[in-house]
Amino acid sequence: MQIKTAARLGLLPPYLFAELDRLKKEVQQKGVDVISLGIGDPDLPTPSHIIESLKRAADNPINHRYPDYEGLEQFRKTAADWYRRRFGASFDYQREVCALIGSKEGIANFSTAIVNPGDIVLIPDPGYPVYYSGCVFNGGEPYFLTLKKEHGFMPDLASIPAEIARRAKMLWLNYPNNPTAATVELSFFESAVKFCLKNDIILAHDSAYSEIAYDGYRSPSVFQVEGSRECAIEFHSLSKTFSMTGWRVGFAIGNAQLVGALGKVKTNCDSGVFQAVQEAAITGLEGGDGDKLAEYCAIYKERRDILVGALRKLGLECESPRATFYVWSKVPKGYTSVSFTERVLKEAGVAITPGSGFGKGGEGYVRFSLTVSSERVREAVDRLTALRF
Ligand SMILES: *Cc1c(COP(=O)(O)O)cnc(C)c1O
Repeated sequence: MQIKTAARLGLLPPYLFAELDRLKKEVQQKGVDVISLGIGDPDLPTPSHIIESLKRAADNPINHRYPDYEGLEQFRKTAADWYRRRFGASFDYQREVCALIGSKEGIANFSTAIVNPGDIVLIPDPGYPVYYSGCVFNGGEPYFLTLKKEHGFMPDLASIPAEIARRAKMLWLNYPNNPTAATVELSFFESAVKFCLKNDIILAHDSAYSEIAYDGYRSPSVFQVEGSRECAIEFHSLSKTFSMTGWRVGFAIGNAQLVGALGKVKTNCDSGVFQAVQEAAITGLEGGDGDKLAEYCAIYKERRDILVGALRKLGLECESPRATFYVWSKVPKGYTSVSFTERVLKEAGVAITPGSGFGKGGEGYVRFSLTVSSERVREAVDRLTALRF
């Protein structure tokens, strides 16, 4: 039999990272101790009070059954309380908060809830790939907003043609940003909300890195802007904040109709978050971790300072990020994102991510992750220094 898969699978770009994974294995097989600055996955462990909470919750037979679709009442309430403490915005946890199996799940399913065939979706480029796949899987037409250095890696909303703005259904934003590590001030969200309200566009903000910040920076929420509740939803994740990527838990918060629409899709394709994980997530969100999160941010900051200082010495142009655990750097003259990534991997045994893997707008850049120890960052830096480019 000839198997014919859905045409939508053909809409995905070739998976650039697969070829680099192959190359990385090849280098490792030669006995090279590869330092991986490629993936966005914290190396620091989940704080122990969260793990203890999971252990207790796992023993309770109530938690062995199907969870509620929308999440435990206590989880949603705790998420709303955390949100109010952090951003000063209050939400009705019954109607305006929904538990997610990690925010990636929510981001993908939200597109299914919103996008009709032919709808235009405004997508940052470079950007997290799920905004694009969610759009095209549902027949939407992506319109890319290039994030340029000279514009602080923020989309220039004023440059969007009126006809596109009129037809657009949704705008994706993500600050602190992956992969550029750019941050914004509230004024940017003010202009984004204004733009969305004027053009009847849904504002979807991915806030996965809101708590990974340095130098006193506090990232804003779109819900600190007046009028945002009419048009916006925000996606939060415990993955980066609490080093819980493997646990799969996050939440969506915002406009009740938008949260409700997402919930409708979810009831038809998943059955919620393991309740023991939700109980552990409650423990995390309630705080009481001493200063674990501050301690983790201080660790990322130390690594950042080592890496940024060294890259600049090598003549690579990069900002020192105020948030996220990434450093977004220009490649040296004469290289593309991929050719630089390949040379660094083959000759220095350092794995990084080519910016072009996040969209055309990322060409000419590479992303370094700060998810290895300072010692390893130093070693990576020494190896890069020996390269000469
Ligand atoms: C890591 C990440 C996410 C989601 O992570 P989950 O583990 O699914 O919560 C979402 N958006 C961006 C930009 C990310 O980097």
